[in-house]
Amino acid sequence: MSKPVLNPKTTHLEFSGLPGALAISIGLPAVLILFELLCNRVYLAQGISLNFAAIKDQLPNSWEAVKLLVFDPLCWKAYVTWFFTLAACDVWLPGQTLKGVPLRDGTRLTYKINGIAMLILFIAVLVYRWYTCENHYMPELAFVYNNMLQLTLTTIVFAWLLAVFVYVCSFIPLRKPNGVGTHERVLSINGNSGNVIYDWFIGRELNPRIGPLDIKLYCELKPGMLLWLLINLLCCHYQYHTQGLVSDSLALVTAMQMFYTFDGVLNEAGVLLMMDVTTDGFGFMLSFGDLALVPWLYSLQLRFLCLPENRLDLGWPKVIGIAALMALGFYIFRLANKQKSDFKNGKLDHKNFKLIKTETGSKLLCDGWWGLSQHINYFGDWLIGWLWCLPTGFQLVLPYYYVIYFGALLIHRQMRDEAKCRAKYKKLWVEYERQVPYKIIPYVY
Ligand code: NDP
Repeated sequence: MSKPVLNPKTTHLEFSGLPGALAISIGLPAVLILFELLCNRVYLAQGISLNFAAIKDQLPNSWEAVKLLVFDPLCWKAYVTWFFTLAACDVWLPGQTLKGVPLRDGTRLTYKINGIAMLILFIAVLVYRWYTCENHYMPELAFVYNNMLQLTLTTIVFAWLLAVFVYVCSFIPLRKPNGVGTHERVLSINGNSGNVIYDWFIGRELNPRIGPLDIKLYCELKPGMLLWLLINLLCCHYQYHTQGLVSDSLALVTAMQMFYTFDGVLNEAGVLLMMDVTTDGFGFMLSFGDLALVPWLYSLQLRFLCLPENRLDLGWPKVIGIAALMALGFYIFRLANKQKSDFKNGKLDHKNFKLIKTETGSKLLCDGWWGLSQHINYFGDWLIGWLWCLPTGFQLVLPYYYVIYFGALLIHRQMRDEAKCRAKYKKLWVEYERQVPYKIIPYVY
């Protein structure tokens, strides 16, 4: 009998293959830049109409100016310092050691889970700076606020370079043999098509590492999520130092988003079961998503609310109402994810739950949260997204981009996951679909 191939050739291309990969690689960074141009101190889009002259005026008019904007030396120095300092902390800070899912070569990677230590250190540094800076004016926060466009471009180019780096490294044989005794790296099942651009985009190697640093897990939670948290705080810092207060709407969105980022970093172990870690390689899709899209796109509501013309005072009843709905969304999101994770880790008593035993030995839960829909956790997450947008009021569509974008992302993700599970579980997946017919929102979709 011939030995199974460790890295089978990818035949099914996701995102409509090369055209989709190119469109996303160009389109999403363009959207990020456009949003930055539409919502800043110089120009703010009104209603659904755009002032193209005002947008164009913010753009550089020569190659020299473009280069200065994209490769601003101070911004690059700041971002490179940020990325590598956090990477060094990720390697050195203590944490719990956990095993990842079994890989195709039979091995399981070891991960250090130290999100709590990282958050404590990060907050300690911020609090220290806040206390020691004159009038609590922190120049580093002001620097980020004043250079948003340059820093957005820096993170996009950095993500691009990182994706090139990991793509090139994926061809270098391993120094030590893998689980099947060869020196091949374990590639992503989706990223070994042979098409350079597509594989660079989707991610060729499943778990690229430099020494002890797992690039994918690190990028997934630390540099992007913590930058998002920092942008939250610097919007409040900006409003406080320019308008003398922090409005309740800004404080509310900041509190809700900070809660979400804290939860993400603190529940680092759960990420080991996510599709991003178990199935997707690390390419431009993830490096851009983690490093550029999350901090800049997800913080748009805050950048919108901190501008003087958008100051919105909601009053206690609305604040409490929105916070209560956020708690409900979070309750669904967190408990559903926890139930699946406990189920997979054997912490849930299987006798008390309806489930389907699959041929591969793994089981599908059809009860509790997972009896309501196939991705009830996505529903909770989407509800949370709505509550980040509602405090911006109804005068502009722009801050609501998030629920549209995130809804589309979750539906696409659900379809990708369904295709994966259908191929993996075959007719048992059909039985699962019969028992749990709704995909995300019970009785709706
Ligand atoms: P899920 O948590 O839904 O995990 C899907 C996987 O879980 C499947 O591939 C399958 O893997 C397993 N599975 C599916 N159904 C069952 C079941 N009934 N019983 C047991 N196992 C099951 O999806 P994601 O990993 O995509 O998302 C995780 C969280 O991250 C979600 O809450 C999502 O909202 C959030 N998220 C947030 C994003 C953001 O930008 N804010 C982006 C993406 C996700 P297996 O092969 O192991 O069986």
